[in-house]
Amino acid sequence: MNGQNWVISGARTAEGTPGDWYISDGHFVEEPASGGTRIDADGLMILPGLVDLHTHLREPGREDAETVRSGTLAAARGGFTCVHAMANTDPVTDTAEKAETIHDLGLRDGSAQVVVVGAITKNLEGRELAEMGLMASSRAGVRVFSDDGHCVMDALLMRRALEWVRPFGGLIAQHAQDSHLAGSGACAHESEISGRLGLGGWPAAAESVIVARDVQLAKLTGSKVHVYHVSTAESVEIIRWAKKQGIPVTAEATPHHLYLGTREIEGYDTTFKVNPPLRTDEHIEALRDGLADGTIDTVGTDHAPHAVQDKDHAFIDAKPGMLGLEQALAVVMEVMVAGGRMSWADLADRMSYAPARLGRVPGQGQPIRVGSAANFVLVDPTARAVVDRNRSASLSRNNPYHGRDLPDPVVATIWGGRLTYRR
Ligand SMILES: [Zn+2]
Repeated sequence: MNGQNWVISGARTAEGTPGDWYISDGHFVEEPASGGTRIDADGLMILPGLVDLHTHLREPGREDAETVRSGTLAAARGGFTCVHAMANTDPVTDTAEKAETIHDLGLRDGSAQVVVVGAITKNLEGRELAEMGLMASSRAGVRVFSDDGHCVMDALLMRRALEWVRPFGGLIAQHAQDSHLAGSGACAHESEISGRLGLGGWPAAAESVIVARDVQLAKLTGSKVHVYHVSTAESVEIIRWAKKQGIPVTAEATPHHLYLGTREIEGYDTTFKVNPPLRTDEHIEALRDGLADGTIDTVGTDHAPHAVQDKDHAFIDAKPGMLGLEQALAVVMEVMVAGGRMSWADLADRMSYAPARLGRVPGQGQPIRVGSAANFVLVDPTARAVVDRNRSASLSRNNPYHGRDLPDPVVATIWGGRLTYRR
């Protein structure tokens, strides 16, 4: 895929460099090629294509909720040029063959690059390691492994997984949830609100005890741990400490944990049921601080589409998870950039450079300059709109931002020189 020739005139980079940008043969080039399509980008910014390390595409198994095609269209609308497809599909991505199937679906149907995440344990059961080496050497070239949706509870198995991937630089990404402290009935942040609503409490400590353990295992093995969807102040503090010790741990915050609080569930609206749960202001503030100072390395969407029949239940029975791809950039702009807490360059780092580096995805997460692959998003930093969940490329409607006034930044997304979205 070599894409089209483009001239993007007048766009400013995250670092503030204004200019005209020429794209030919899928790359930024020195001189305009003949016949390039011109986009007048005066007043717009040109950011590196966003990279998500944490996307549930639901194919195979739940094509009624999302497919590779619809999920990557949603990604393109959100400014993403690369998504990592989580392994908790049906069947689970736990063999080389299954990883290659998803990889090929991405090549066929993707409006963004689809990078396959492999399971750590067979069928996500937490008992036996999956074929991680074979997935890594397969055509899918798996580099990130996760049982997301489930925590790897067995510390010895977690140690073995870390040791196994170390020789090829694999990344073990953990869904940190002690399944005894926060069991199957736990569906709301343990607080006065969960008590009043009569919902099973999911205490903050159920996350941080696993984060603390995994930090020790990263130190023991010298292998990298990435903590998905960090949601508590204590986890941020532990990760900050671990980084100071030089322990190879990295972390993610989701847009919803940065923006939405546990009060959202007071009407029992299952759109706001998510795992880990939405928390209180002190936790939200700690996440924002952690993202600003680099303790938290990436924003990952945990885009989790669910069909209506899986959300249309009593709160305790509804599936956890919410959409994220289309509003992730808007939310980070709103809570981090608008208030001056983070620069545009930091945003480019947390949403593109860092996730591409952690996932080791060649050609993604590159600065906007001559020689880089033409993966980028044109952003209007001033546009705003009220989010309408019915105007979405996703097949699902569990959008927690519905009805909210937010930035509406994405003007166009270009992946490998090919236009994947234009407003
Ligand atoms: Zn998870």
